[in-house]
Amino acid sequence: MHNAKETAADPAADIFTSPISERPLPKRTMPELPAPPHVVHQLLRNELLLDGNAAQNLATFCTTWADDEVRRLMDQCLDKNIVDKDEYPQTAEIESRCVNILASLWHAPLGSGGDGAEPAVGCSTTGSSEAAMLCGLALKWRWRDRRRAAGLPADRPNLVCGPVQVCWEKFARYFDVELRQVPVESGATGLQAHQLREYVDENTIGVVAILGVTYTCTYEPVAEIAAELDRMQTENGLDVPLHIDAASGGFIAPFLHPDLEWDFRLPRVASINASGHKYGMAPLGVGWALWRDKAALPDDLVFHVDYLGGDMPTLALNFSRPGGQVVAQYFLFLRLGREGYRRVYQACADSAQHFASQVAGMGPFTLLYDGAGALPAVSWTLTDPGSTGWSLYDLSDQLRMRGWQVPSYPLPPDRQETVIQRVLVRHGVDRDELELLAEDMRRAIKRLDAGHPPSDSARVGFHH
Ligand SMILES: *Cc1c(COP(=O)(O)O)cnc(C)c1O
Repeated sequence: MHNAKETAADPAADIFTSPISERPLPKRTMPELPAPPHVVHQLLRNELLLDGNAAQNLATFCTTWADDEVRRLMDQCLDKNIVDKDEYPQTAEIESRCVNILASLWHAPLGSGGDGAEPAVGCSTTGSSEAAMLCGLALKWRWRDRRRAAGLPADRPNLVCGPVQVCWEKFARYFDVELRQVPVESGATGLQAHQLREYVDENTIGVVAILGVTYTCTYEPVAEIAAELDRMQTENGLDVPLHIDAASGGFIAPFLHPDLEWDFRLPRVASINASGHKYGMAPLGVGWALWRDKAALPDDLVFHVDYLGGDMPTLALNFSRPGGQVVAQYFLFLRLGREGYRRVYQACADSAQHFASQVAGMGPFTLLYDGAGALPAVSWTLTDPGSTGWSLYDLSDQLRMRGWQVPSYPLPPDRQETVIQRVLVRHGVDRDELELLAEDMRRAIKRLDAGHPPSDSARVGFHH
């Protein structure tokens, strides 16, 4: 039985001599009594130090650096619920400004973009995963409507894609759609246009092309895929829409590769998703789903609420959700502008290419992607894994000792025998940091070449 005297807080006590810090924190049941917030805060901070250091996490696409103003805005928006369009109309207004800005960035047709004629069709989400669910549902609904109108069965939908991120596997399973994942051809890093015919049929609700394949950071050839679907329509009448998973590339291509046609400039593209919290530079918890026009988003997926006397269409899997990320996204659009995004990502791409040339010079590696032409990132593989005496997993472990998180993983089917390593260069990962990483890599390689860790340590079968 606790007694109040034993646990009463002494305001003069040192944080680490207060009652709650005398024993391990409760882990399975809630404590009976409250504790002073500054003590609990410090204890949790200490525990969180055991997490990896996000700035050294070169595995993540997600934002790990923020302006102080972003932190302040997030704090100021702590109490704003984005679903309450009526209570927080200005947050709702800012969300729709962001959607319009993205529609114009991704070349939505006039009338559904930034020209002011009509609001763009889209919404914020918790990330690309929720956006993928919504865009996938729109594809499924449209396909079902077409099939029903033609008096045809609508019970076996499929979605055709290359080596997609797990969110598409989730979509397929949660919403009962067959996922037809086209295997990666030897030498390729994603879906190729000529592979489509074997997989697309009358039950295909859509094709997903990826701008920024998660594994290799390259762009799938979106325009070629669209052209192939155009040809297929001419030949056999199948009108299959294209969705672009631009989770990462949606905030890179408009600035670094403005002439690349991957977006609504291609009439075949029905919808696009992107992660605001990846190269959008917003804090974790925001993604975007946009449709080409109203026809691409079936009306019965949209719920209508009244807001400021007008009609506010809402579309989401979540209900309550924080508004701060969306406000921060708008802050970044205003604070950086197109030129700001371009400069940030040009610097990232330059650093990535510089780092790639260092990796190439280390000896044992073959570059898979050198950071030019798609995402600011580098990926490589061991040139001769059979005779190197250590694996990329070993190298990841060595780097981890210095706090670096550099992931190693196998390529997707049918190239899973190839293990690769990948470094993402994002806002906040600077040139000097990459120099230090390269030095640590050279040191680790020397150690591994010399037999440390010994190859007989129980490492067999160890996988990340
Ligand atoms: C990260 C990613 C996703 C999932 O995005 P979240 O914003 O993390 O939900 C989907 N597709 C691709 C290509 C990605 O890189």
